[in-house]
Amino acid sequence: MRDSNRETSKRETSNKFRKWTSVHSLLYLSRMKLSTPLSSVLRTTDDHIVALQGMGLHTVEDLLLYLPRAHEDLSRIILLRDVPLEEKVSVRGTVGALKITRLRGGRVIVSTIFTDTEGATAEAQWFNQPHVKRMLPDGSEVVLTGKLTEKRNRLLFQSPQFEIAGQRPLVHAGRLVPIYPQHDIINTKWLREKIVLLKDAIVQFSETLPLEVLQEHDLMGRSEAIAAMHFPENPAQVERAQHRMTFEEMYRVQLDALERRKLWQGEHQDRLAVPMDVELIKAFFRSLHFAPTASQKIAIYEILRDMEKGIAMSRLLEGDVGSGKTLVATAVMATVMKARGQCALMVPTEVLAKQHAQGIARLLIDLHAFIRTQTGKEPFPRPNVALLTGSTPAGDALMIKQGLQNGTIDIVIGTHALIEEGVRFHDLRLVIVDEQHRFGVQQRARLKEKGNPHFLAMTATPIPRTLALTAYGDHDLSVLLEKPGQRKPISTKVVAPADRKTVERWIDHQIGEGRQAFVICPLIEESEAEEIKDVKNVEQEVLRLKQGFPHRHIAMLHGRMIPKEKEAILQAFRDRAFDLLVSTSVIEVGIDIPNSTIIVIEGAERFGLAQLHQFRGRVGRSDHQSYCFLFTTTPEQARSPRLRAMEQYDSGFQLAEIDLTLRGPGALFGLRQSGLPDFRFPHLFQPELVMNARKAAEKMTGISAPRAA
Ligand code: ADP
Ligand code: MG
Repeated sequence: MRDSNRETSKRETSNKFRKWTSVHSLLYLSRMKLSTPLSSVLRTTDDHIVALQGMGLHTVEDLLLYLPRAHEDLSRIILLRDVPLEEKVSVRGTVGALKITRLRGGRVIVSTIFTDTEGATAEAQWFNQPHVKRMLPDGSEVVLTGKLTEKRNRLLFQSPQFEIAGQRPLVHAGRLVPIYPQHDIINTKWLREKIVLLKDAIVQFSETLPLEVLQEHDLMGRSEAIAAMHFPENPAQVERAQHRMTFEEMYRVQLDALERRKLWQGEHQDRLAVPMDVELIKAFFRSLHFAPTASQKIAIYEILRDMEKGIAMSRLLEGDVGSGKTLVATAVMATVMKARGQCALMVPTEVLAKQHAQGIARLLIDLHAFIRTQTGKEPFPRPNVALLTGSTPAGDALMIKQGLQNGTIDIVIGTHALIEEGVRFHDLRLVIVDEQHRFGVQQRARLKEKGNPHFLAMTATPIPRTLALTAYGDHDLSVLLEKPGQRKPISTKVVAPADRKTVERWIDHQIGEGRQAFVICPLIEESEAEEIKDVKNVEQEVLRLKQGFPHRHIAMLHGRMIPKEKEAILQAFRDRAFDLLVSTSVIEVGIDIPNSTIIVIEGAERFGLAQLHQFRGRVGRSDHQSYCFLFTTTPEQARSPRLRAMEQYDSGFQLAEIDLTLRGPGALFGLRQSGLPDFRFPHLFQPELVMNARKAAEKMTGISAPRAA
C-alpha cells in the first residue's frame, strides 16, 4: 500500500518536473551541469554573486544543496468567498489599475481592486512599497498571498505577497513553499526563483549511499530527495527526503569516525599488549580507604581488557563530575607501570596537573607499600611520578625529560608541555587526557609519533550515548554511572536578589560549623559597560564580603594570576587557611577540595547549563551535605527554565537531555568544540537514525563496532 502511494507520488513529481522545465529550458540552462558556476547560469547582479560566494555557494550543485529549513503549506488556492479571516491564504485573480497615494510624512500607499476568478472583489494595499506599482502591471493575473481583514464591509488584503500567474507554474504559492535560510541580500524569495531555474540539473546528482544501504533502510534516492526538498508534493515526502539527507550526513560522520579509529589503531604492537593483573587490581582496591563503585570496577575492567590486545586503544571514559575518574585512571596506570611501561596524563591546567600529580603519586606509593607489607616482597620498583608543566624550572624539566627518555620515570603528569617535540619516551604505552574537550586532532597526531600508545580520554561532559557515538565515534565508551560514597544529592536553590541576605547569613553559619565555600563571579573587575554594570566581579565581591563578614578569611582567585599564585591560594584553601574562595570560572575544571561544601554562583543567568553543572561539581565531594546557590542579577532571571532545571536535576546526564531539548544538539553542553558536526536538520537527530547510520557504516567498511558499555 505504502509502496504504491510512493510510486504515484514519484510519477506526479516527474510530471510536474516536465511542466516546470519546458518553460525554462533556455539554451544556457539546458547545457547546465552541476559543476557549472552560478555566475554563468543565473542572470543576476554581481552583488548577488558575491553574496552567494560568501555563503560558500559557487556552483549549481552548491545552490541545489542549499536546502530549505522548512516548508509553508500554501498549496490550496481558494476563492474570496471561502476565505477565513486573519489566516494566511492564497487567492488567484486579476488586479485592476494600481493607484499611488502619498500621505503626509512621506508615506506611500499602493492600492488596487483585486477580482478573483469568480468575480468577487477585495481591496489590496501595500504600505511604503512603491516598487509594487512597477512590478505589478495594471490588469495582471496574480496570486496574492496574505491575511484578509474586513474593513467597513469590504475585504482588504494588507500588503500581500504577490506572484504574477502567467503560463509558468507558481513558485511562491500553490504548493508546499520552501523557506530557505536567508542571508543578507539573498532572501528566500530570490532563492526560490533561482532554484526553480536549476531544477533540471537535479537528476544529475549521483547516489552517495550504497544500494544495499538504501534498500536495507528504505531510503529515498539522492536526487529524488533533493528534488523533494525543493519541490515537494506533500509533507510526507518532505519527511522522507529529510530523513534520507540526515541519514547521509550521519553515515558520513560514522564512516569518518571508523576510518579515524582504524588509522589510530595502526599496526599490532607486541609491547602494547599489557597483561591484566587481577591480583594487582585487588591489592589496589584493598589499599584504598574506601570501596570502589561498581561502575569504577567495570570501567577498569573494560579498559584493561582493551589494552591486552596489542592494538592501540581509543576510549572515552565518561563520568559526571565527582564520579571518581581519577581512581580508574590510577588503577590502569598502575597496571602499565607494573608491566614496566610508561604513562602520560595530560590535563588542561597547571593547577590540576599539580593536584593530580600529588594525589596519584600518593595512591601508587600507598599501593606499593601495601603490597610490600602484605607479601614482604617488592612488587615493582617504587613508583616514580613526575610533574612537567610550562612553569617547571628549566633544570628540572631537563632532568624529567632525561628520565622519560631512559625510562626511570614511570608516570608523567602535566599540561600540553608533555607532548612537545623535545619530550621523548623510553616506552610510552598509555596516554590519558583529562577533560578531553580541550584536546584537538593535532595533538592526537603528535601522540601517534610518540609510539602510538593506548589513548584514554576522560570527560565530565555527560553526553547521551548516541551523541557520543556522533561526536566521539572513533572511541569505545566506558561510563561511570553512579557517584561514589554515601553522597547526598547537592541541594540547589535559585536565589533572587531579595533573598540574598538570608542565604548569606545561613552560609556564614555553615562556615561556623567548619565548612568552606566557593563564590563564583562572572567578571574579574568592575566594568563600565552598561549591559554588565550590575554583574558581580571578583574584586568588589571580595571587598563587600570582607566588610559584611569581617570575622571570616576570604581569598581571591582569577585567570590573570600566574599559575604559582593560583596554586598557592588553592593549597592554602585546601589547608583551610581560608573560609571563602571568591573566584572567576577558573575554578571550573577538576578542582577537588572535599571540605568545601557550598558553592555560590553569582550572575548565574550568564552561564550555560554545562558550566553551571561543572561549577556545582566542585562541591558534593564528601559525605557532608553540599549546597549550590544560583544568584541571579535580576528577580526575573530567577524564573529561567534553565536555572530551574538545575534545582530539579542533580545528574549531568539528565541535564544534558534537557539541554538537548531546550537548545538542540548543536548547542549541547559545549560539544561543538569537541567535534560534533553542525546538523542540517537538528530536530531530526534521533537515536535510532544514528544507530542505523552507524550499523550501515560498519557493515560497509567491515570495521567492527566498539563494544557497548
Ligand atoms: P572526577 O570524576 O570528577 O575526576 P575525582 O576522581 O576527582 O572525580 O573524584 C572525586 C572524589 O571522590 C575524590 O575525592 C576521590 O578521592 C573520591 N572517590 C573516588 N572514588 C571513590 C569511591 N569509590 N568511594 C569514595 N570516594 C571516592
Ligand atoms: Mg577529574
